[in-house]
Amino acid sequence: MRHPIIAGNWKMNKTAGETRTLVEELVKSCSNLTSVDVVLCPPFTSLWAAQEMLRNSTIKLGGQNMHWERTGAFTGEVAPDMLKEAGCHFVILGHSERRMYFKEDNEMINKKVKAAFSFGLTPILCVGESLAEREAGKTKQVVEDHVRGGFKDIPAAQAAKVVVAYEPVWAIGTGKTATPAQAEEVHAFIRGLLATLYSGDTAQHVRIQYGGSVKPDNVKELMAQADIDGALVGGASLDAATFEKIVKFGGNG
Ligand code: PEP
Repeated sequence: MRHPIIAGNWKMNKTAGETRTLVEELVKSCSNLTSVDVVLCPPFTSLWAAQEMLRNSTIKLGGQNMHWERTGAFTGEVAPDMLKEAGCHFVILGHSERRMYFKEDNEMINKKVKAAFSFGLTPILCVGESLAEREAGKTKQVVEDHVRGGFKDIPAAQAAKVVVAYEPVWAIGTGKTATPAQAEEVHAFIRGLLATLYSGDTAQHVRIQYGGSVKPDNVKELMAQADIDGALVGGASLDAATFEKIVKFGGNG
């Protein structure tokens, strides 16, 4: 039985001060839930503030990205053990905004997945097609390429721990959600692919989140699908009351 996991990707929002306010509210409403794992991914500069607020809470922290090297001349980058030190258990890798605006490719993302495991971080590996790719009938081809690329040379014991986030790019921040049936079709495809790459048992352990305009009013139906194990939430994770509803509706789905 896979445990549901709902993560908030705050993107480039919330100063450290704003983070304290939001986390304080979430600690009151979403701490110590047993039905769902809750992860918050603030910007790097807010991680320490969040970590302080999350002491004694079951809510976990994640980074939104990282470099694969531990140290070096990589201006503007953040290393895996810096995230660890700032209290992270998770790290989002290969988000479509990183692929699109910062030209991250499968090879770079695969290095990051390996680095995450080396430093005890759990990757949330994002995969998903653009609107043009969907309309050209290439959804499964693109998703397969992202999954194969991200999991390349990752041993089964680690693969089972990866959280995959299926995020159709056309549904991110647009208000257009994939229908539960559309999402489930791709989730089932990803699980089938993982069974081919590893084994049925490994594939059954991998948690696959859906991401793309998840809101309190659509999360329950999405989470009711057999292969949807959680949500990666962007815009709707920035408001405490809205995110609380997603976490609670999702956890009971
Ligand atoms: C995201 O950026 O991961 C995301 C899913 O965003 P939104 O929920 O705003 O569509």
